[in-house]
Amino acid sequence: MTEKVALREVGMRDGLQSLPPVLTTEQKNAWCAAEFAAGVKEIEVTSFVPPKLLPMFADAEEVVRHALTLDGLTVSALIPNLRGAERGVALGVRELAHVLSVSEGHNQNNVRRSTAESIADLKGVIELRDSLETGRRVKVMAGLATCFGCTIEGHVDERRVFTIAAEVLALKPDALMLADTVGYGNPAAIRRVFREVLDMAGGVPVGAHFHNTRGLGLANVLAALEVGVRGFDASLGGLGGCPWAPGATGNIVMEDTAFMLEAMGFDTGIDLERLIEVRR
Ligand code: ZN
Repeated sequence: MTEKVALREVGMRDGLQSLPPVLTTEQKNAWCAAEFAAGVKEIEVTSFVPPKLLPMFADAEEVVRHALTLDGLTVSALIPNLRGAERGVALGVRELAHVLSVSEGHNQNNVRRSTAESIADLKGVIELRDSLETGRRVKVMAGLATCFGCTIEGHVDERRVFTIAAEVLALKPDALMLADTVGYGNPAAIRRVFREVLDMAGGVPVGAHFHNTRGLGLANVLAALEVGVRGFDASLGGLGGCPWAPGATGNIVMEDTAFMLEAMGFDTGIDLERLIEVRR
């Protein structure tokens, strides 16, 4: 039996977030359906951030409704807070990706509250999850942004990552995601931090979200694989970037990551030929 690695498409959220509204709802839906048909089983389809802040997600409801018609797709949405979680639950989203930043400055900038306030907010989201009947249960993935560096604070102390990971794990999320939000990570740091956090997580899946800003994306995937990470975010064509860093590359490239993993003998469930068609 070959070992499975799960790849999660985030371009529809992370990629589109850094661009002006460029895709119509129909184009987003077509992308989602085609990539699912190519074997990608988990897609972060939108963000429940208020549309006045991010107008490219004004069609969040319609995109989620369409994605939910794709039988077998894990429909995920990013939520910045409890309010976003309530919108997601009302629609029937199966996975809520709650994100908070390890870097205090980045969290303030992103969601206008302290990291501690965001952890309290996550607690509310998990209580919401636990209050739902079994048939309507959602998974809460707790994302920790800026684990390997931050545009505002620069260096991020690994001890702070471990402290926050411990506080978040104590709330019992369904999964944890460590993000190298801006692409500051390197394989040595990735190995150190993931090894420690996987150890703390005691069986709770820990995924990785890498950006390719400095070209180290796949090297970082390999480092994380070596210490046992089996879930990665990626975006088709590496779509994404950062509005504050012109020319910066985006998330790690879905098709390159799938190719590397398949070539190494892992099973991603993805049909590469079809995936490349979707990219076209
Ligand atoms: Zn990202």
